[in-house]
Amino acid sequence: MAFKNFFSFFTNDLAIDLGTANTLLFTKGKGIVIREPSIVAINRKNNNKVEAIGQEAKEMLGRTPGNIIAIRPMKDGVIADFEVTEKMLEYFIRKACNRRRWIRPRIVICVPSGITPVERRAVQDTALRAGASEVHLVLEAMAAAIGAGLPITEPGGNMVVNIGGGTTDIAVISLSGIVYSRSIRVAGNEMDTAIIQYIKRKYNMLVGERTAEQIKIEIGSAFQLEESISMDIKGRDLIEGIPKTLSLSDKEVREALSDITSTIVDAVKVALEITPPELAADFVDKGIILTGGGALLRGIDLRLREETGVPVTLAEDPLTSVVMGVGVMLEDFELLRKLTI
Ligand code: ADP
Ligand code: MG
Repeated sequence: MAFKNFFSFFTNDLAIDLGTANTLLFTKGKGIVIREPSIVAINRKNNNKVEAIGQEAKEMLGRTPGNIIAIRPMKDGVIADFEVTEKMLEYFIRKACNRRRWIRPRIVICVPSGITPVERRAVQDTALRAGASEVHLVLEAMAAAIGAGLPITEPGGNMVVNIGGGTTDIAVISLSGIVYSRSIRVAGNEMDTAIIQYIKRKYNMLVGERTAEQIKIEIGSAFQLEESISMDIKGRDLIEGIPKTLSLSDKEVREALSDITSTIVDAVKVALEITPPELAADFVDKGIILTGGGALLRGIDLRLREETGVPVTLAEDPLTSVVMGVGVMLEDFELLRKLTI
């Protein structure tokens, strides 16, 4: 017994949000210790050697020589490349444990509600191979709701809409259970692609992925702004092949994003229609809560409110709601036991 206690004393428990766009790790006592893009740069000429992971790899996006490629090993909320995900996770776990190799932390990690048992198993196995001693899985929507401060254990419905990098997940939660959930493969990354396409079509100009994301963050919106804004964009002219600069307005970006924002709004409307009436009545009072980085798109809350008639609230820090929620479970064993899948 004393032996076991000795080891549990050294066990660092970790909460992980392994997202399509960003990975966050939380440790008991310290809070969020890792917050990096889910990107790995690999050298194809050198036996697929890992050149960089996280922020450093993101900075290489679109700038690397041909033999170095940046991989996003997560796609649509699930693992697309097992080997690379394992390396990435191992690196983040080591970093979170201050690189002490002998520590094998217990891990709580969240998965989207729509994934198959096989995909869940893959997350579990990958985390074990990446250095975990135990892995507990919880539902991402539940974590997002807890992280956003919703009373999920009470009767009455809560609707959480998490707009991430690869997917937008809509969930209705009541009494610690998921009453309805749906995931659409339209979210932040798709917005970047739409901006690239728009500029290509309208101006015959090519911009990179990182520039497109910057445009979205700086002047993107889903609802008419009170004051219009614009931004100077640098790219390559597709006809003359030379660098070019142009000015893009918020109205143009809104137009570029309109199919995507409409798809998200429509999915929320469907969810509201399908929800049992008693629960739906709660939404009218409590409203819909928005989490995930995509929720930071200007005016997405106003747009949803206007089109659904239901109040909409943005989580305090949408990019960290999920990992904070998993962190709450990490520190509350009873809750974790109830919510582990
Ligand atoms: P995931 O959980 O899938 O990893 P995140 O919740 O971390 O995704 O959100 C990442 C997405 O949010 C990215 O597509 C990113 O471009 C987008 N994002 C981050 N900040 C903003 C912002 N201010 N406005 C619009 N989109 C944003
Ligand atoms: Mg997420």
